[in-house]
Amino acid sequence: NKKFILASHPEGRVLPENFMLVEENLPPLRDNEVLIRHQWLSLDPYMRGRISPAKSYAQGVKIGDTMVGATVGVVEQSQSDKFQVGDVVLSATGWQLYGIANASQIMKVDASKVPSSAFVGILGMPGITAWTGLMNICEPKSGETVVVDAASGAVGAVVGQLAKIAGCRVVGIAGGAAKCEYVVKELGFDACVDHRSKTFAQDVTDALPAGIDCLFENVGGAIFELLLSKMNAFSRIALCGTVSEYNDDPYPNKVLRSILINRIKFQGFIVSDKLETWPGIREKLTELVIAGKLKFRESIAEGLEQAPQAFVGMLAGQNFGKQLVRISN
Ligand code: NDP
Repeated sequence: NKKFILASHPEGRVLPENFMLVEENLPPLRDNEVLIRHQWLSLDPYMRGRISPAKSYAQGVKIGDTMVGATVGVVEQSQSDKFQVGDVVLSATGWQLYGIANASQIMKVDASKVPSSAFVGILGMPGITAWTGLMNICEPKSGETVVVDAASGAVGAVVGQLAKIAGCRVVGIAGGAAKCEYVVKELGFDACVDHRSKTFAQDVTDALPAGIDCLFENVGGAIFELLLSKMNAFSRIALCGTVSEYNDDPYPNKVLRSILINRIKFQGFIVSDKLETWPGIREKLTELVIAGKLKFRESIAEGLEQAPQAFVGMLAGQNFGKQLVRISN
């Protein structure tokens, strides 16, 4: 087996050298374990938090530990009566070619109608994050204006499409003309503002004549501050992430005056708080994907060796859609 371990905690910006590729012999399976050949490795912004030595809501990766991550793969050996050789499974077995997991920690997926990679993207943690934050915290109503940043990404793309289905005017924020064009033309957002443009602040104002009723916040920092200044009275913010600040150490602190003066309902959330809601949400998302009402796009890095570079690139905006690593076919 080949796998990436954490070689060092990043100081500020994460670098490929923070990870080290090592080879090992896999131990024989114990009772109830399965051996999985990974097809897909999901790269997600939360991983930046896991490799920081600072305390967070989840336990961090220690130096020498295998890098954590969700995978989709095929069962190659099974010591469990719940899984057969050939089953396609979702697991959390990390940045490696093969994973060994207890049967209780993996889930069989039906990849007959959707590609298997969707189970770590639109039908997995990112899609469920979008649904949870939008439906439970933003509670969008028809005719309202919804704004989402990192709009072409794994979470943002689903947020905007679901808000369109709910009858809202949807404005995305994304980095670069190609991402913005995709968000409007392919995903059906009403508008998208390029945060790399020199006229960004004016463009945001122009795109939001009626202000913001729901903000699904993925980015933080200066973009968040600008969007805050456009919030309407009794608007809602789902604070999902602050990816622009993940490489900063320590997190810059911002004044949230707009929250107070506009009586904004503002709630942070972690998608894993309510695991019992996942199957129901996944079912609804699956229906929408199969019906062609939800689209998704993937950025694929080829081979486990590319994982560190792709992860560093994702935090710099080089991914376009859900970032995956193809481990095998
Ligand atoms: P994406 O696929 O959206 O990839 C990250 C994107 O962030 C980049 O492509 C880039 O898009 C944007 N970005 C990075 N740095 C900056 C910057 N300095 N300024 C502006 N944009 C930047 O990732 P996900 O969809 O997986 O995650 C989106 C957010 O959701 C993250 O904040 C993540 O932590 C959060 N999240 C939270 C969860 C929860 O339970 N609360 C669960 C899952 C995700 P662009 O080029 O368009 O700027």
